[in-house]
Amino acid sequence: MTVLEAIQKSTDFLAKKGVDSPRLQSELLLAHVLETPRLKLYLDFTRRLDEEQAGSFRELIKRRGNREPLQHILGSTSFCGLEITVNNSVLVPRPETELLAEEGWKHLNSLGGRPGSFLDFGTGSGCIALALCHFAANARGWALDKSDEALKMARFNIEKHQLANRLSFVQSNAFENLDPALRFDLIISNPPYIPSKDLPSLQDEVRKFDPPSALDGGPDGLDFYRLLAAEVPRHLAAGGKLMLEFGDGQEKWIPGILESHGWIMELVLNDYSSRPRVGVAKRASGMEMN
Ligand code: GLN
Repeated sequence: MTVLEAIQKSTDFLAKKGVDSPRLQSELLLAHVLETPRLKLYLDFTRRLDEEQAGSFRELIKRRGNREPLQHILGSTSFCGLEITVNNSVLVPRPETELLAEEGWKHLNSLGGRPGSFLDFGTGSGCIALALCHFAANARGWALDKSDEALKMARFNIEKHQLANRLSFVQSNAFENLDPALRFDLIISNPPYIPSKDLPSLQDEVRKFDPPSALDGGPDGLDFYRLLAAEVPRHLAAGGKLMLEFGDGQEKWIPGILESHGWIMELVLNDYSSRPRVGVAKRASGMEMN
């Protein structure tokens, strides 16, 4: 089997299985097996795969055909240009979450050189916390998750990038185990925000392979925004910000939830599909708690 034949056959197979961008997916998996950059495949269309390569490629295509996410098969993905290892204990980092992280490090870098502190609530793979430590050179962070397995993955990612000395890990359901004395310049979260009843209709890659606890935001998807709006003020330093990712259409409800707890929504950013996706909030004057 040549490179071109392998690509064509697997593209047809993945298309039949309902996988998005089947040709790109085939090429990425083949490039992985052959340990070559994807674009180099185009110079090598007539190259023959040996038996072992053909065997492993078939295996990976079969997994992708079962709708296992590419990132799980490859074992890692890129977030803000940083390599993040993932498994099925954590949500696969999404490109739109990069916008949230970028807003976060811009704030931490705007504190006049003073090292900022942040809390990443529901850290999962640790992608946001890692990006903040990387791009806000002096920031010090706390990464909180209720899942021990997720925290293991987050710790692995931070250690791989040699930033572990800047981050503390807290296993906690909501804020239960967080030191009540801690105050942060930034509290940032991509919480679970899918309404429970919508979980069964998510695409297979998400429904079968992302942990449901990282997706399920309760009956209307807004449980975590209510929790954060109410609980975060006691952990916010003076002038601190709350930054949140949210789901489709939730921009209608989130400002009201925040305002009822003394917040002002300062900014809403659209994602790459021009949908409101990230909100930045601060305390209304007179509502600071510290
Ligand atoms: N963005 C994810 C999705 O659409 C959901 C992540 C979340 O709930 N925070 O599948």
